[in-house]
Amino acid sequence: MSISFDYLIVGAGLFGATFAREMHENGKKCLVIDKRAHTGGNIYCRDEGGIHVHEYGAHIFHTDKEHVWQYVNRFVRFNHYINSPLANYKGRLYNLPFNMNTYNKLWGVNTPAEAKAKLEEQRKPYLHITEPANLEEQALKLGGEDIYRIFIKEYTEKQWGCPATELPAFIIRRLPFRFVYDNNYFNDPYQGIPIGGYNLLTDSLLDGIEVKCNTDYFDNREYFDSLADKIIFTGCIDEFFNYEFGHLDYRSLRFEHERLEMEDFQGNAVVNYNEASVPFTRIIEHKHFEFGKQSHTVITREYPQAYEPGQEPYYPINNEKNMERMKLYRERAARLPDVLFGGRLAQYAYFDMDDTVEAALLLAGKELVV
Ligand code: FAD
Ligand code: UDP
Repeated sequence: MSISFDYLIVGAGLFGATFAREMHENGKKCLVIDKRAHTGGNIYCRDEGGIHVHEYGAHIFHTDKEHVWQYVNRFVRFNHYINSPLANYKGRLYNLPFNMNTYNKLWGVNTPAEAKAKLEEQRKPYLHITEPANLEEQALKLGGEDIYRIFIKEYTEKQWGCPATELPAFIIRRLPFRFVYDNNYFNDPYQGIPIGGYNLLTDSLLDGIEVKCNTDYFDNREYFDSLADKIIFTGCIDEFFNYEFGHLDYRSLRFEHERLEMEDFQGNAVVNYNEASVPFTRIIEHKHFEFGKQSHTVITREYPQAYEPGQEPYYPINNEKNMERMKLYRERAARLPDVLFGGRLAQYAYFDMDDTVEAALLLAGKELVV
């Protein structure tokens, strides 16, 4: 079989699609394959009567990277959606991220000075912790007793399926604390949802490029290898190397989608359920991402679950065992100059969409100067 492509790109997710776009625009011939029936990877949306359903979990684009924002805006326009999730704890609703609205509901304080004083009082027993050894210590040091007990402990333990004392501290550093009445979950200057949905972004990135869905690289590896000079692999790196150094662990999720014949179910796109006795972590109401006015609605309950091979791998588990294995895979990958590994599965990293686009642009840039 003669080589007919410059690049075979395994995976039509955001990484594969961005890389393919860059190469295509620079005159390289690309073939993109994906084992799923659709392109877009985890940002894919299913259309349910005009509502774009985020099939693989709610996706909100946010970034502080000016060049990434300009790049994606070449392909789609973004609406002015601002993520402002609510936390439901035992039937009471609180605003997230932690801000004056949250403290007011929680402690009855009205001013930033009152809130800071209350938070200091709550944190006082934990301020001696200089190097938090785990997520529980980190959360108590940052937010004190009430915030940890109501918003973090039970949510985190159901999300990750283990005690908060066994989780790394860095997971919780993602949660911002604010002393203004501002429910914007993200600190980034740019945020929104593509007008017309995420599929428009992927379709524009892949415009003019040969794509084959329902095509698993591992079904015919030798054949696919023979098609191109180089391979960009965006699937699971441990699978690529036949689990030579063992499996990398993941946390998985199960999404339960439901169409309801009512205009509005919860009045907000994202409501977290923070108590342990509710088995799901959040309910997403998709129409609110795009200010939908349909007479029906679609909601999704998100259930965390253990990962077994064959299920969707969602969150990497960044413990020592996995980091050690990943190091071995990375060294192994470096010895294959004609295969490049990119994206959240091949790099075994929690990448937001802007990180993914940035990483793909970086790799494409390197390829183009070689
Ligand atoms: P993927 O989207 O996973 O694409 C990889 C593709 O490779 C898949 O389509 C897969 O089918 C294909 N593939 C794998 N193996 C093979 C094979 N053997 N043969 C052929 N094809 C194969 N980011 C944000 O910025 N904001 C958010 O709000 C946000 N929310 C998220 C919520 C959840 C629940 C999760 C898990 C992630 C979220 N992210 C969010 C991160 C975002 O999903 C990623 O940054 C992005 O989708 C990664 O793109 P990717 O191309 O690397 O991976
Ligand atoms: N988290 C929490 N309570 C919440 C929301 C988040 O304790 O109401 C913790 C939890 O440990 C989670 C982490 O913060 O894993 C990051 O959550 P976020 O919603 O920012 O990220 P996502 O789960 O969407 O990747």
